[in-house]
Amino acid sequence: MKFFWLRSSLSQGTRWSGSYEASYRWGLPGAQCPTCRAELGGVALNYPNVSLSELQNEREYREARPVPWEEYLRLREGVLPLLPVGARLEPGSCFGPLRGRARGVFPPVVMQDPWTLLVARPVLQAMEQARLSGAVPVRVDLKGLKDPEGLYELQLLPQGKLASDCASRRGPSCATCGSVEDLWPDEWWLDTDALPTIDLCRLPSNPAIILASERAVAVLTTEGDTGVRAVDVTEPRTAA
Ligand SMILES: [Zn+2]
Repeated sequence: MKFFWLRSSLSQGTRWSGSYEASYRWGLPGAQCPTCRAELGGVALNYPNVSLSELQNEREYREARPVPWEEYLRLREGVLPLLPVGARLEPGSCFGPLRGRARGVFPPVVMQDPWTLLVARPVLQAMEQARLSGAVPVRVDLKGLKDPEGLYELQLLPQGKLASDCASRRGPSCATCGSVEDLWPDEWWLDTDALPTIDLCRLPSNPAIILASERAVAVLTTEGDTGVRAVDVTEPRTAA
């Protein structure tokens, strides 16, 4: 079985003009790890289908700001019971649907940020027909969106792992926060003995990377330039 890294195809010249500015309603603050001193604040581990509205202290999650580590742990603790099984959090993780403004015409599959995957309704219907697993669609709240049927962000879980050859070149990870000091390797591929069991997910060691099965790629790239391209990451390879 093959797995692919989903990337935007739009840098190669495009008829799609769409762009958006948006943010999530709630988020975990950034924090400094007390062990390795890394300033932590990820962008990718977001859960748009998780609402914090029932939390008594939901206001504490509204403002993005750096906080002491203990404070981060306390706020993280409050969110854990609301998460789907298999979810992982990091400082900067966000919750609730994307809200903001959009303009222009969007492709069927939107990866304005490489770590955020939006699909138009017809793509979502094709995904449901193909019974793709792993993605929970959440309608985005973007003013100015031309398509009345809207766009849906796919909430994804982390699964799969780097091949041990690539992982060993990254050095040890911090026992407290899991950070790895080394930069992401130029060449990387997946451990084929531990491939994801779902069709769409994030790579746990770099959640900004969205992975798709062959079946998922077939749906997402079905007609011409849908907005994404798929890079095979089941073989040793160099970065695209
Ligand atoms: Zn650390």
